[in-house]
Amino acid sequence: QLILEEDEMINFVSTQEGPSLSQADLKKQSMQEVRRSLPIFPYREDLLRAITQHQILVIEGETGSGKTTQIPQYLMEDGYTKGGMKIGCTQPRRVAAMSVAARVAEETSVKLGNEVGYSIRFEDCTSERTVLKYMTDGMLLREFLTEPDLASYSVVIIDEAHERTLHTDILFGLIKDIARFRPDLKVLVASATLDTERFSCFFDEAPVFRIPGRRFPVDIYYTKAPEADYLEACVVSVLQIHVTQSPGDILVFLTGQEEIEACCELLQERCRRLGSKIAELVILPIYANLPSDMQAKIFTPTPPGARKVVVATNIAETSLTIDGIIYVIDPGFCKQKSYNARTGMESLIVTPCSRASANQRAGRAGRVAAGKCFRLYTAWAFKHEMEETTVPEIQRTNLGNVVLLLKSLGINDLIHFDFMDPPPHETLVLALEQLYALGALNHLGELTKLGRRMAELPVDPMLSKMILASEQYKCSEEILSIAAMLSVNNSIFYRPKDKVVHADNARMNFTVPGGDHLVLLNVYNQWVESGFSTQWCYENFIQFRSMRRARDVRDQLEGLMERIEVEVVSAQGDCVPIRKAVTAGYFYHTARLSKGGYKTVKHQQTVYVHPNSSLFEEQPRWLIYHELVFTTKEFMRQVIEIDSSWLLEVAPHYYKSKELEDSSTKKMPRKQGKTKDELG
Ligand code: ADP
Ligand code: MG
Repeated sequence: QLILEEDEMINFVSTQEGPSLSQADLKKQSMQEVRRSLPIFPYREDLLRAITQHQILVIEGETGSGKTTQIPQYLMEDGYTKGGMKIGCTQPRRVAAMSVAARVAEETSVKLGNEVGYSIRFEDCTSERTVLKYMTDGMLLREFLTEPDLASYSVVIIDEAHERTLHTDILFGLIKDIARFRPDLKVLVASATLDTERFSCFFDEAPVFRIPGRRFPVDIYYTKAPEADYLEACVVSVLQIHVTQSPGDILVFLTGQEEIEACCELLQERCRRLGSKIAELVILPIYANLPSDMQAKIFTPTPPGARKVVVATNIAETSLTIDGIIYVIDPGFCKQKSYNARTGMESLIVTPCSRASANQRAGRAGRVAAGKCFRLYTAWAFKHEMEETTVPEIQRTNLGNVVLLLKSLGINDLIHFDFMDPPPHETLVLALEQLYALGALNHLGELTKLGRRMAELPVDPMLSKMILASEQYKCSEEILSIAAMLSVNNSIFYRPKDKVVHADNARMNFTVPGGDHLVLLNVYNQWVESGFSTQWCYENFIQFRSMRRARDVRDQLEGLMERIEVEVVSAQGDCVPIRKAVTAGYFYHTARLSKGGYKTVKHQQTVYVHPNSSLFEEQPRWLIYHELVFTTKEFMRQVIEIDSSWLLEVAPHYYKSKELEDSSTKKMPRKQGKTKDELG
């Protein structure tokens, strides 16, 4: 009998007459058998030969063909790590770097962190013995600071090149350059089946090695009409597949942690209600901040009789391969950074993904058998509302970080840097201006002493400046904690649906005057006082894992303080110096209270205090925000109250006293507040 009512069902239409679903052969194989069964295996010798013959090789292969896990092993077996030389393999995502490193360590029977390790920001799981190093593209970029010719590497693999992240794009330019005077260095550019001609062209017509794919047909279904609520549509679709379709696991693409958690909760709830009427559904999330033991769960085989549903960010689009997926549910969205080079405002927005992305997602359904992809949008939307490809990140992000790094590498002429796709001119200029205002560059655009110290810290220039400013304001102890807490941002407070009131009360108890940065500091300090207690976190609705990560980040930053010669001292309970140090880093993010909300000082953009903020009710006249997020409107997340006169103190070359005059001396009427839940 039907479990779902007819009106709950989603109407899908197929665009093709598809073959019926063939049974997946998910026989358990030994790891070596799996290795030999991968599409890349028959090409092992050809590939190694091509690598001997060419310094730079572009490698194209379907996701799951074995590029990331196998090629480095082939190279090790072929002697590329003799004498302790290293193979580096970059990944755009932290989770992928950790996960593939763990897998390869297992395949080669070594302990992770010994011969095979990974390095991601604030977490180094390598040792003296490590010869195969998986790392984020950002980490390899930072290695140029200590080893400008990457002398300890025999091979560098730029993996997932098609993702075109900012860091990958910069690596392209730098590596192409060093390859010229390091003829012994092998460079492999690995990519899913996208864009490989462009990579070849950029790397002076480097040959493309194609690994023929093994792909089963995937039937594509669209909704008849647009879905108003794609989260709900996902949940219904999962259950619909579960009760009507033959065995095979499901992969759902959502845009971020919050959505994924919400989706998993809804699914769990519905399954509980349906009880024994349906077969077991194993619901597993995967996103960047998920602890690694939980991440590993997505790879465990589904128990017989049950069905697995993995709810993922676009990490599962090409970076990770989960065997056994037959059904893909694609709402057609992803979270993207967008940058306004005129105002310098960067925000994360949920936007429709590209057609290229949608096709990669669909491809995940056809790896082990014929599959089905359910698109929660219309065929018309696919054709007319989606972009062909995703715009490379370099063209839609703030370049401050990268410009500072390149300057520290002695690359002064950024206009003529070898970009595969150059960033917009105004973005580059704005980055230079911002670094100048922060004091990292002088008026000739040269790196200053402060700039050199800022580049030593693996964080964005504003955060870096805030940390360095804590020296002058004698509050580095506190600023380090704040910086660490900001970097695990938005995952500190736990707010389970069934205990919203308790959770909000617990959160309220941490409130201190002055703003969210000080609240975060308060949480951190109380946790330290509790002896880093798990129980304390539990009682106070604080996420223990996030706190542990904050502590790790803080330890790492503290370790770097010596290098940049900043003494770690405390402000002894005075919060003014702390707020001034924040201002010294983030003066660009100043907003002033105006009718109905806030306006940014320089560009008069309307922005709002996030309803989760401790200053949501208070609405002080001047504040500084840590970041902007766009949901229903432009929200400032993590705000701190400042005194406008401090702006002249910390950024006299940027602010003029005239623009900081208050237009009226009367206190602004308090805004009609909406409740938290209304604003979401
Ligand atoms: P590619 O880089 O070409 O997309 P990978 O090398 O990542 O391919 O994956 C090859 C195969 O290795 C996958 O199809 C999967 O069978 C297996 N695999 C990869 N990572 C894991 C993991 N963490 N756990 C279990 N199997 C994995
Ligand atoms: Mg890969």
